[in-house]
Amino acid sequence: MPVRLEIRLFLTGCKRTLRLNRQILAFATLAALSTLAAAQVPPAPFTRFVVVLDAAHGGDDSGGRFKSGQSEKAFTLALNVRLRSLLAARGIAVVTTRESDAAVDPNRRAEIANHANAQACLSLHASETGGGIHLFASSLAPTSAVRFAAWKTAQAPWVTRSLALAGVLNSSLQHAGLAVTLDRTALPVVDSMTCPAIAVEVAPERIAGKQIKSALDDPAYQSRVASALAAALLEWRSEARQP
Ligand SMILES: [Zn+2]
Repeated sequence: MPVRLEIRLFLTGCKRTLRLNRQILAFATLAALSTLAAAQVPPAPFTRFVVVLDAAHGGDDSGGRFKSGQSEKAFTLALNVRLRSLLAARGIAVVTTRESDAAVDPNRRAEIANHANAQACLSLHASETGGGIHLFASSLAPTSAVRFAAWKTAQAPWVTRSLALAGVLNSSLQHAGLAVTLDRTALPVVDSMTCPAIAVEVAPERIAGKQIKSALDDPAYQSRVASALAAALLEWRSEARQP
């Protein structure tokens, strides 16, 4: 083959290769750009709705001792079981800080809760003082999110959400005919939690704040409290799902 022709063919070939390369490049750029665009689009909001139940006390720490002979640690564990099964029946994932009569350190409880990435954390208590349900949010001043919150004040950026959760719990409990008091307090477990967190203290149901209508060891009362708390958490889940 004459050299000139060979060169011309070679050059044409080069041009074609170049053209092809340019096409490939354009295609690759387009593909890369679409990947980039896909990466910039926030993923569909799929956060698993998880609730943490913290049955306060346990093991050596009995908590309060009631006139019936029952201890607070047994009451909180029983309420934990009732609530967990109600939530599980409605497809809500539940993480508990204890499942038996075991002593669990407050730091460990918060650690379990924080690891769960929960949308609601309830620390369960009981008391024979007062009546109805006492809801406690952390007394820490709300702060904007900080990257490294100190352990004991980890709840601060969550306080606003916790107060909103208290509001939802309050309306559900009142709807179930239960008296509710809202308060704020310093509780090590709640203060260390990085989730909307509320301490729920169950007291006997009283008539006009005096005579006991439903005692703490009344299964029907426990069931009403658990149902109202579960209804509140369902409401909280539907609110969380709204854009
Ligand atoms: Zn307690």
